[in-house]
Formats: sequence, C-alpha cells, structure tokens
Amino acid sequence: MSICRSIDLINENLLIFDELHQALLNWFSEAARDLPWRRTRDPYRILVAEVMLQQTQVDRVLPKYEAFLERFPTLQALAEAPTADVIRMWSGLGYNRRAVNLQRAAREIVARYGGIFPQDVAILVTLPGIGPYTAGAVACFAFEQDVAFMDTNIRRVIRRVFTDPADMVTERPLLELARAALPVGRGWAWNQALMELGSLICTAEAPACWRCPLRDLCRNYAARRSSDEHLTPLQPRKRIAERREQPFIGSNRYFRGRIIEALRALPPGAALALNDLGPQVRPEYTPADEAWLTALIRGLERDGLVVWNDAGVRLPE
Ligand code: SF4
Repeated sequence: MSICRSIDLINENLLIFDELHQALLNWFSEAARDLPWRRTRDPYRILVAEVMLQQTQVDRVLPKYEAFLERFPTLQALAEAPTADVIRMWSGLGYNRRAVNLQRAAREIVARYGGIFPQDVAILVTLPGIGPYTAGAVACFAFEQDVAFMDTNIRRVIRRVFTDPADMVTERPLLELARAALPVGRGWAWNQALMELGSLICTAEAPACWRCPLRDLCRNYAARRSSDEHLTPLQPRKRIAERREQPFIGSNRYFRGRIIEALRALPPGAALALNDLGPQVRPEYTPADEAWLTALIRGLERDGLVVWNDAGVRLPE
C-alpha cells in the first residue's frame, strides 16, 4: 500500500523536480546562514553539531559547539576524556543523555574502526545514539553522499510542498519522495537548503509563504490560498505546541536535569549523599521523598549519567 502511495506521489510531482531544485538551491546560495558546521567536512565536527542540534535551537548550540570542540578537538580526545567532563561541557544544552551517547559513539569508532569514521549509513546507524536521521546527515554533510533523510524541518517542507494538506501521508512515502526529489550530485546543498527553509521560512506555526522561493510550486500553499486559509496561518498548531511546553517544570526530565546540575557543581570525583542531594533537587524535599529520588537516580545510572555507590552519587569518571 505504502509502495503504491510512494509511486503515486513521485509521479504526481515528477514534473516539478527540476524547477524546484533550481528555485531552492538558488535561494540557499543567497540566504544560507554562515554556520560553522557548514564550513567543514570533518565527520567528527559534523556529528557533534548534529547531536547538539537534535533537540536544541541553533542560537543556543553555537557557543556550546565552539566550546565543546575546543575542549575535545578530535574524536580521540572525546573518546579518552572522563565522562564527567563531557557531561559538564554539555551544560545548557539539556537532554544530557546525548552527551554520554556521543562519547560512546566516539569510543566505539576508536575501538572497532581504529578511529576511522565509518561512511556507510548502515554502519553509522549502529553507533550509540545515532538514528537514521543523524546517520544520513553525517553521510551527506561529511562525506557528501546523496542520501535522503528527514528531521522535523525537512519532513515539514517535503510534506507541504509535495502533498495536499488534507492528505495524511505516512513517513515511508514521504521518505521515498525525499529520495526521488534529491538532485544527483547536489545532496549536500539540497538537504542543507531543505533544513534552512524549514528553519527560516516554512516554520511549523507560521510559514512565511509570501517570501518563500517554492511558493509557486507548493501544493500546501496552493490549497490554502484557494480556501483563504492563508489569512489565519496554522494558529491552532501553535497553541498545541505551547501546551506541550508547559508541563516541563515538575516533570521527571526537569528533576533529572536538576540532579545533573547539582553534580556538575561538585569538584571532580566528589559525590553527594542522598540527603544532601535531595534538597538541591527539590527545596521541599523530605526523607519521605527518598523512593522518588532513588528512582530518578537509578534511571540516570542506567543511562550512564551518574554513578551511585557508598560514597554517594557522582558523575561518571
Ligand atoms: S509556500 Fe509556504 S507552505 Fe509551501 S514550502 Fe513555502 S513556506 Fe512552506
């Protein structure tokens, strides 16, 4: 079923591919932001950027990216560093498990591949913390392979340009469409351009269609224009997104972050007893909260973010 849908979608859009390539690549050559990970083809530097960008905005990543690479300038340096240092350098980026997985990937590349970065998507995707998106991004942005992959920005642009808003197209046909639309030999620029358009113009809540280089080719825009929906652009989704943001304070993720922050502030190798850690994580903490705190610490331990022994809880060395 999804194969038929993929073929239909590709056939429906085949005639606009050339025009689309020209419009988007021309726009990108003029409008692209000068970002440090676009100036390199070093797979290590690109992997660091991609992992940081997975759940963090570009503006917040930029200073952290430079500082991280100054502290760990090579794959080898990251692999050999104490894990506590890597977690400390991740401060301010959130989702600390990414830091541990990034180092695990570096250690695996050193141990299994002699420090030579694999180029094959099928191998990259087996590394810790690297999913199909990150594997595709490294293969494309570091090794300039014509690989199609989708993050939220690329997915949104592909969906809007090639499909009707009423059409609930699933992931598989979208990815097939992304593969078919990829211009041979221009994969690097094409994928960067899709991401840039999704980030700067074709945003989730309020796409700026009036200044979009793909406006005349976009099915979503054509459908909304014919129904006058462009006058009230996608506000309901914005409200849904805002509602999703609110529960963060008080969530498990929030308190996990508080534990890591408390441990980051300790001198190297130092540990905190449970009764000292609790009030730093939650000011109203009482001994009755010990089971709750223990469950959080066990979860962090499973993720490789803390060590808990007789001396107390600390970052892994
Ligand atoms: S015309 Fe609008 S909906 Fe279509 S790709 Fe451009 S910004 Fe997105």
